[in-house]
Amino acid sequence: MRITGIESHVLQYDLDEPLGYSQQYFTKRTAHLVQVSTDDGITGWGECFGAGPVALANRTIVEAVIQPMLLGRDPFDREAIWHHVYNMLRDHGQKGMPIQALSGVDIALWDIAGKALGQPLWRLLGGRCRERIPVYGYGMMLQPVPDLEARFAAEAAAIEAMGFTAMKMKVGHGVKADIGLVEATRRAIRHETRLMVDANHCYTTPDAFAVGRALEDLDIFWFEEPVAPEDRDGYRRLRDGLRLNIAGGEAEFTRYGWRDLLASGCLDIAQPEVCALGGISEFQKVMALAQSHFVPVVNHVWGSSIAVAVNLHLLTAQPPMPGGLHPFEPMLEFDTTPNRFRDDLAIEPLAIQAQVAANAGTATAPDRPGIGVEPDPDFLRHYAVG
Ligand code: CA
Repeated sequence: MRITGIESHVLQYDLDEPLGYSQQYFTKRTAHLVQVSTDDGITGWGECFGAGPVALANRTIVEAVIQPMLLGRDPFDREAIWHHVYNMLRDHGQKGMPIQALSGVDIALWDIAGKALGQPLWRLLGGRCRERIPVYGYGMMLQPVPDLEARFAAEAAAIEAMGFTAMKMKVGHGVKADIGLVEATRRAIRHETRLMVDANHCYTTPDAFAVGRALEDLDIFWFEEPVAPEDRDGYRRLRDGLRLNIAGGEAEFTRYGWRDLLASGCLDIAQPEVCALGGISEFQKVMALAQSHFVPVVNHVWGSSIAVAVNLHLLTAQPPMPGGLHPFEPMLEFDTTPNRFRDDLAIEPLAIQAQVAANAGTATAPDRPGIGVEPDPDFLRHYAVG
């Protein structure tokens, strides 16, 4: 089997209401899918992290830079291909967009392997460590409205009513306002429901301490990206000084970046992003690093149903750590805000919301060969940009 072409599909549509996090509001939703074609008719699908103009730039890296290196190669040569592309791009970026672009291509090669072998991805990754994955509802995004506390409270109650037993909210309006937002959200849900808080690296370390001390009293399960990802010392100080889990890592790349992040003792919970850090091949190496540092992994997930399915497979195959009758269990991060790329892109939907409602807040990876998500060609045409 030989690779005959690589095509990026950047999809976009206008949101009804702007949604945001601590760095910006956005008015469009974007997805960047990668399609790898072969001479025996098998097509693999992958996805690259990166929204808006970043997706358009990554498309150029995929099609103009990476594609010529792969044409004519055997798609089963995933490791050889990964290292060839990385070595050729190393001088031009060991993190960020070149690695995001490589991620989508690598994921598509795994999809091809699964389809060629007739096996679901989780089986290629070492088999099933768990059948049901707890799913947490990602919502409560920032909006430029005066009644955000009331909106967050209503949204949190709605996510709980959908059957989620854990959820995550954004902060980013400043220390005092953020504590108010978390208090309003916590009050709106049951005591047993897990609540996580994501700052998207908006605080100085002193401000993160001020918010973190309030979060300790509000029974928050983790405090995500409290300070800038480069601020390893800030992470370490927060981890030493706060009585709650410090989570992060979505902005880190490859085994090399993760080696240093984990060795620096920055994290209680690691959140590697498979569509950014280098794809499935590299995720497995980051997973081994996290295991070797005894840091639990709860995958970062963003994007379409392809990214969701890839992460379901990774979580299915994730080894327990450290093990026990009631070990730490990872969760699937799942966007509960309006998202057509999650709901309508796949020919056979994953139906995560229906699974969550029917199965006590959990979901199961698809059993179809490869990733198990085939994008609807009409949908791709309809939402294509540029
Ligand atoms: Ca985050």
